[in-house]
Amino acid sequence: MNHHHGLECQDLLNNISAYIDGELDDELCGKIEAHIESCPNCKVVINTLKRTIQLYQEDGESETFPLDARHRLFTALDLDEDLDLSD
Ligand SMILES: [Zn+2]
Repeated sequence: MNHHHGLECQDLLNNISAYIDGELDDELCGKIEAHIESCPNCKVVINTLKRTIQLYQEDGESETFPLDARHRLFTALDLDEDLDLSD
């Protein structure tokens, strides 16, 4: 695996919030999806986030995933707390 060819895990984690929210452009989304396919760790992180957000949305309480819940999830997943969580 050539680490200079695509995203590093840290690049993915830095953009994960925007990716989940669908705010990234197609090119970056493609790079993230390519990284996920080759990186089991990031795949688990993304899948866990998506599933958790789906549960929140199916709850019907709110359309958006609460920031503090997102923060707790990131903490639970042992991700870097310096992630940009602002919308
Ligand atoms: Zn990764």
